[in-house]
Amino acid sequence: MSIGYYSTNRNLKNVAGIIPFTGKVSFKEALLKGQASDEGLFMPDMIPQLSLKDIQNLKGKPYRDTALLVAQAFLVDEFPLEVLKNVVKDSYNYPVPLEEVKPKAYVMRLDQGPTASFKDFAARMMARLMSNCRSRGERLNILVATSGDTGSAVGEAFKGVAGIDVTILYPETEVSNMQKKQLDTIGGNVQALSVDGKFDDCQNLVKQAFSDPDLIKFNLTSANSINFGRILPQIIYYIYAYAQLAENGEQVIFSVPSGNFGDALGCEYARRMGLPVAKLIMPTNENDEFPIFMATGKYNKVSPSRACISNAMNVGHPSNLARFFDLYGGTVDRVGQVHRYPDWEEMKRHIFSISITDEQTREIIKSVYKSYHVVLEQHGAVGWAGLEEYFKISQDNKLAISLETAHPAKFPEEIQKLLGLNIPVPESMKNIDQREGSAVAITNNYEDFKNYLQKNLKIKE
Ligand SMILES: *Cc1c(COP(=O)(O)O)cnc(C)c1O
Repeated sequence: MSIGYYSTNRNLKNVAGIIPFTGKVSFKEALLKGQASDEGLFMPDMIPQLSLKDIQNLKGKPYRDTALLVAQAFLVDEFPLEVLKNVVKDSYNYPVPLEEVKPKAYVMRLDQGPTASFKDFAARMMARLMSNCRSRGERLNILVATSGDTGSAVGEAFKGVAGIDVTILYPETEVSNMQKKQLDTIGGNVQALSVDGKFDDCQNLVKQAFSDPDLIKFNLTSANSINFGRILPQIIYYIYAYAQLAENGEQVIFSVPSGNFGDALGCEYARRMGLPVAKLIMPTNENDEFPIFMATGKYNKVSPSRACISNAMNVGHPSNLARFFDLYGGTVDRVGQVHRYPDWEEMKRHIFSISITDEQTREIIKSVYKSYHVVLEQHGAVGWAGLEEYFKISQDNKLAISLETAHPAKFPEEIQKLLGLNIPVPESMKNIDQREGSAVAITNNYEDFKNYLQKNLKIKE
């Protein structure tokens, strides 16, 4: 029995411009489409189950064994086992350290991939699954608009992947020099375009291209963060960490620094697959729409979003909130309008959320280093701060694992200022200044962009 994927907007009524999609699609279709036709997010209609024994058997085994177990559970009806084995082997060729901070409390470092961010985990597996979704001889063209980090994670993930070319658009004046260098020099099948405009202009150019009939022949596809293909790989590391650290089927607490909630959603699914998760802690920065909802039962997005030092989490209405609401029986749309509230009591049983200020974030970076000699950057620090806050109110002494989502060397000024340390850059980020490659400059005029695509994109392999 194969899993079908439905839309979080299937029950919407009387919303102008939206015709609810009430059908189901395959994983492959959800992967290539990214989003349902009604702007909803795809959700699996069945969550496969793992036994505690299956999970415990992963102890001491490489990460890819856990990856294969999860991939198989969801995808075995749509991809041959051999394909899945190759996908996970190719995706996960870097370590996943579990660092003990104090007894029974760990940091899981998801910062060892090619762009030193946890987004590598999802992007790499999604890229390889997409490559295996093509019909024979077909070529896919991925278009991504980025304000910085996501573009390089996606670009690096697709680098060298057969049958897929990637075009990344970024706003010329809104990315840092380091980000520009990262985006410009990926090379091979990945080309950056620097747009004379803002991030919104980049997004609009990409949107227009997707709806342009002249470009259909290029098989344009997105790789954005709401794709279920990016959620699935984020289930894996929770199961991996548990298998390595837990004893005798004990329960675990995870703390996940949260922005668009894709990472935390992976933990929610892992629990629903059978992982003994006692609590999912979802700390946010000062964008506190979700902590306030968890405290009051009323949801209001934060608009405009607040600029915090954990900038990858500056989100005023998390896109994956629609999936959380759906799992608990509610509906919220893309703009943050709640159509039906979820079972709030039930959510509170499983989830704890709290807002962490920039000041607290900086204090935690200092105190964790001082007490334990562990270096966290600002995203991981929000995670650890959430865990400490939870310990204060719950007196819980269960096994706890907090996620570090980026490498501290990505934020040298902040870490230098707070800790007086120079963090050695990981191998993947070394010599970035000397890398070769340049972006093609374009204006923010659609005809200019379309011309570029028509001249440069390929159709067949
Ligand atoms: C994207 C990102 C996050 C937030 O993850 P979500 O899945 O959007 O909640 C946290 N930390 C870093 C470093 C990120 O890049």
